[in-house]
Order: sequence, then C-alpha cells, then structure tokens
Amino acid sequence: MYRKIKLIYKLIYQTKASKREEFYYRNILPQKSIEEVGEDVEQWAVQRKEEIELLRKNEIFRKEFLLNLSHELKTPIFAIQGYVDTLLNGALTNPEVNVKFLSNASKNVDRLVNLVDDLDEITKLESGGQLLYKQNFVIQEVIKEIFESLSLKADEKKIKCLIKKGCEVPLTAFGDKEKIRQVLINLIDNAIKYGKQNGTVEGSAYKIDGKKILVEISDDGFGIAEEHISRIFERFYRTDLARTRKVGGSGLGLSIAKHIIEAHNEAIHVRSKTDVGTTFGFTLEAAKL
Ligand code: ADP
Repeated sequence: MYRKIKLIYKLIYQTKASKREEFYYRNILPQKSIEEVGEDVEQWAVQRKEEIELLRKNEIFRKEFLLNLSHELKTPIFAIQGYVDTLLNGALTNPEVNVKFLSNASKNVDRLVNLVDDLDEITKLESGGQLLYKQNFVIQEVIKEIFESLSLKADEKKIKCLIKKGCEVPLTAFGDKEKIRQVLINLIDNAIKYGKQNGTVEGSAYKIDGKKILVEISDDGFGIAEEHISRIFERFYRTDLARTRKVGGSGLGLSIAKHIIEAHNEAIHVRSKTDVGTTFGFTLEAAKL
C-alpha cells in the first residue's frame, strides 16, 4: 500500500527524488493518513486544472493578438501599396496628384513605424524585465511640458490645455519620470484626439492620504459609452467612434499606460459619459521630502 502511494506522490511531483524528497518519503509520508493523501492529490488536481485553464486562456489571447496585429498591419500596408502602384502606373507624372499620393503613402509609413514602436514598448513591458528608474519630479511640470509639445495638435481643434484651478501648487511624485511622461502623453493625446472643437483639456494633481498623488487628465469631448469602458485598456481595443472617425492611433496607448502604472504598483481608472467627457486618473507615490 505504502509503495503504491509513494508512486502516486512521485507521479504528481514529477521529480526525480532529491535528498529532501527522499527524507520526505521515508519519514513524513508514512505518517500521513489516507485522508491527508487524498487531500494532497485533490490539491494537485486543482493546481493542474488551473494550469491548463491558464494555458487555454493564453492560447486564445495569442490567437486574438495575432489576428488584431495582422489587421492593424494590413491597413497601412495596403494603403501604401495602393498609392505606390497608382504612382507607378502613371500618376507619378501627374503634378496634380503625385505629391499628395506620396505624402499619403508617407503618412501610412509613419503609422506603421508608430505601431511597431508601440508593439516594442508593450513587449518590453509585458516581459516584465523592465527596470524602473525612480526619481522625484513635479507632476504639473511634466503635464505642462506635454501641453506645450502637443500645442499644435490642440490648436488645430482650438482646444485649451490647462492645469485645473486649485491644482497649481507643485506636487512632487516619486516614480519613473520618463515612463510617467509616456503615460501622460498617451492620455493627453487621447484627450485632444477625442475632444471636441473649442473644448478644454485639464490636468490636475491632488495629494491623497499624505502618501499618494492622484493625477487626472479630463476632457469635455465625445466620452466613452458605458459598454466600452471595461475594455478600453485592452490591447487594440477601440470604440466604434474611434474606428469610424479614423482618429485612433495604434490602439495600444492605454494598455501601455496601464502596464506602466501597474509596474509602479499603482492603479489607473477612467470615468466617462457620452457627450459630456472623460477623466482618466492614476495614482503615484508622493515623494518623501
Ligand atoms: P488609440 O490609439 O486608438 O487612441 P488607446 O489605447 O489610446 O488607442 O485608446 C483606446 C480607445 O479608447 C480609443 O480608440 C478610444 O476609443 C477610447 N478613448 C481613449 N481615450 C479617450 C478619450 N479621452 N475620450 C474618448 N474616448 C477615448
């Protein structure tokens, strides 16, 4: 009987007995009751089931990812192919369209480059090997720098970008400044992209419970319908609005933002109402000054 049970244990642990296991088999196992052995086997079965479930989920995820990726790649590639073919078939010598077609092809090349950059970023973040270089920095300063660098884009839609009234007092956060800058660029760029003409984008920062800083980026734009809210942090997920208006980017911006914030062990969230606006917020550790 004991030999049979020992065989079960060898099978479920799937190891060649090390010294420690030999000790276990010789001294601990014989003292176990048959109920305890039953529990061990049950626990093993549960673990196995969980492992299989995880593998199955990963497989679905991988398939979806590849499908989405090939779709995202196809759109700009086919566009470039179309413009280049048309140019080669005679449009090149037509001064009315040649520059326009070339510039459209070039825009699509930029789109491909952006997509590959974002993919690179997300792969690095997901492999988990990314180190954070934390330092103290003033959150409002980073927000203002980004407002400045995106001012051309905001001006096109006559959108005003400002720090919210009452949030001007500089708050110093402790985090990876360049990665947090990336998060804020993605959020502010979205706020402008999905914002309305003549609208406002506001950045705010609040100290909460003395140890954390809450950073928010709000817009008074199109908003996100309730059914999309739970999914917008997924890779490549876009609302119908973003698809039809063709304003969307790679669809990876928010999932990159979420990865960066979670790597800081903090959280990111969204509140939104259709036609009223959207607020994205995330927390950061406050600097110990
Ligand atoms: P994209 O590159 O398409 O902007 P993101 O990952 O940055 O991808 O965002 C995912 C989707 O979430 C967008 O396509 C858009 O539908 C929605 N979204 C993000 N930010 C906003 C916002 N400020 N207002 C309305 N919709 C937004």
